[in-house]
Amino acid sequence: MTLGRFAPSPTGILHLGNLRTALASWLSARKGGGRWILRMEDVDGLRCRRNLGEAQLRDLAALGLESDVPVVWQSEHSQTYREALARLHGAHRIYPCICTRKDLQALASAPHTEDGLRPYPGHCRDRVWEGFDRALRLRLPEGPLTWEDRQLGSQVDDPGSLTGDPLLFRRDGCFAYHLAVVVDDGAQGVTEVVRGADLRFVTATQIRLQEALGLPRPAYAHLGMVMAPDGSRLGKRAGALGLEALGARRITPEECLGWLGWSLGCLERPMPCAAAELVEAFNWSRVPTGEVRVPETWA
Ligand SMILES: [Zn+2]
Repeated sequence: MTLGRFAPSPTGILHLGNLRTALASWLSARKGGGRWILRMEDVDGLRCRRNLGEAQLRDLAALGLESDVPVVWQSEHSQTYREALARLHGAHRIYPCICTRKDLQALASAPHTEDGLRPYPGHCRDRVWEGFDRALRLRLPEGPLTWEDRQLGSQVDDPGSLTGDPLLFRRDGCFAYHLAVVVDDGAQGVTEVVRGADLRFVTATQIRLQEALGLPRPAYAHLGMVMAPDGSRLGKRAGALGLEALGARRITPEECLGWLGWSLGCLERPMPCAAAELVEAFNWSRVPTGEVRVPETWA
């Protein structure tokens, strides 16, 4: 049985791109008679806010997307992440990294990855263990990895050249994104990860981490990005394309669902509907793989 999940970071409002990912993941789980869960990725205490997460949950509920189990807040899970780190240390898979942000930015010749960051070049790989109060990285095995994507088909990636050895624990005491996401997907029994194509490049790295922790590999689906009508990324203008701002312009949640459902190949044209009305028509083979643009009149 499918166990799907949507796992936003409570750092801002959910825009149409986030809501489309949430809906696709919910539809895929429901279509297979499976379950769906919500998880708040709030390990970064500096950037995440509880009230933003609660607002995100309200927006999702307004679309009819509610978690089948109580919502997990990652900030409450430190013990699980600590145990995972201890297991990796026991298997000699992690090492301390003393590089500063400045050190890493100084590597001018290294290629940029899709998110503008450079892969970590492994400077500290040979450092001796100094305890759990240092930044810690996973030592990746060499070579490429093949994985399947429900949207994109068979993928071959070399995580070493995409991200390099991923950071699992930060100097400031926060558990890093890769560790929290992989440990929780494993702990919660997630079988399908649906997310935006902007996270495609971290997948092989996360699969390597799953392998190091002995966790099963979920199915993946990376959705084409939702762009503004002029083709720019939604990030900067997200506030204007959330449910509340759209509502203030008299665009209802049902209209949003109709547009989102149409953009996922469930409807022939956008028309107001409920999420449950889209389940029957949802099929990964009908979800367009490219970018989608928000209607001119909504932006
Ligand atoms: Zn380092």
